[in-house]
Amino acid sequence: MTFFTFSPYCDTVSKGGGKGDQGGKMKTFSNQKDLYWNPVVETLPPKKLRELQLKKFKRILEWAYERSKFHRKLYQEAGLEPGDIKSYEEIAKVPKVEKSMMREIQRKDPFPYGDALCVPLEEVTEFRQTSGTTGTPIYQPDTWQDWEWWAESWAYLLYAQGYRKTDRVFIPFGYNIFVAFWAGHYAAEKIGCEVVPGGVLDTEARILKIQELRATAMMATPTYVLGMADTARKKLGIDPARDLTIRKITCAGEPGASIPSTKQRMEEAWGAKVYDHIGATEIGAWGFECTAQPGGLHVNEALFLTQIEDIETGEIIEEPGRKGKIVITALDRIAQPCIRFDSKDVAEWSKEPCPCGRTFRIIQGGVVGRADDITKIKGVLIAPSAVEEVVRSVKGLANEFEAVVTKKGDLDDITLKIEILPEEEKNREAILTQLKDQLRLKTNLGYNIEVHPYNSLPRYEVKAKRFKDLRKHS
Ligand SMILES: [Zn+2]
Repeated sequence: MTFFTFSPYCDTVSKGGGKGDQGGKMKTFSNQKDLYWNPVVETLPPKKLRELQLKKFKRILEWAYERSKFHRKLYQEAGLEPGDIKSYEEIAKVPKVEKSMMREIQRKDPFPYGDALCVPLEEVTEFRQTSGTTGTPIYQPDTWQDWEWWAESWAYLLYAQGYRKTDRVFIPFGYNIFVAFWAGHYAAEKIGCEVVPGGVLDTEARILKIQELRATAMMATPTYVLGMADTARKKLGIDPARDLTIRKITCAGEPGASIPSTKQRMEEAWGAKVYDHIGATEIGAWGFECTAQPGGLHVNEALFLTQIEDIETGEIIEEPGRKGKIVITALDRIAQPCIRFDSKDVAEWSKEPCPCGRTFRIIQGGVVGRADDITKIKGVLIAPSAVEEVVRSVKGLANEFEAVVTKKGDLDDITLKIEILPEEEKNREAILTQLKDQLRLKTNLGYNIEVHPYNSLPRYEVKAKRFKDLRKHS
């Protein structure tokens, strides 16, 4: 096993490693210290953070330029050499990488990753692939050093969400070729938590195992968090908030934990705090909510450079309150680098600093949608998360729903399929009136509402597909 001379992510102090003395630079936070995984970088003044990011950006750019044909060609065609980047602002000159470009190089030599690979093939220890929800899956190689970086990035987020050595963490999820929760598992161990993998069990067995072991924390998709609570109540007579000991839940995979009404449903069902996180196979775990729940996600500015760009002009947006798409660099990932990757996620910077004291910036309300998904219906721009926010805010509706957009002649038509909870059937008319009013108010659109029998709409464990745009095929 080679440990590359590329200085790893921990060139700033890591709390986990116990390397407390960093040449006298370690600040003391007498009573706050335990809030942060890395008390030094998480509270660096913004100017220092930008300096650190610039230094690391130059390093990964040079690394990729020297070792990967894919990156060298990309930069040479743009007339750019790594030495040309001298300031933070100049980073915007570096060409972006699109997912489609990664797709083109795959299944070529060195097989199966292609020529963005920056290390000898024998140094790759991890295979993952993207889920392919937006096209052919992309393979993702990582070295062991990269894998330690994955665990480090998740350690920041779990620590920020209050995970400590005293936690017993249950993961109701079967790990496989996708990265989901693998890194959460290792990071929880890195922090010192006890981890219970609940992979092959069915939902009822998972709930009983949580009860038996008095697990204190859990990681799952929002859809599954709600589905588990339903199963617990209806099949086992267990009220998770009353009968189970889960007090924090980390969500991933869908935006639900950043949608206030969905978050509230989960928190009430479990009597737990629910925290969001954001990441992607080809990027890493780049953002997280902290225990202060500031209404947004911190971006991890120690390990990533997150930029928000104007969707049309590409101008970098530094000011709060203006939406753009996220372009992101994993500053320390070496096998298949992620440099100025066009994530297509849409977000905006928050105006307010976070009460937790972290200086890592916050994206307001989390990722509000994907540049691909934000679509025009009847001439109105709409993000699928806006529909979810409304459905989940109406009391009496079940958690599942589906929105289908079609074209009738030249006109867009949107149908919303919902379910009413059996015990709320008596309030059917009032529920539907409230739903229609809220939809019109929050999304500026009129919908055909279809009420489906309770439990008849599809249930998802991962990556729910509740928004279907059929216009392209009609
Ligand atoms: Zn915070």
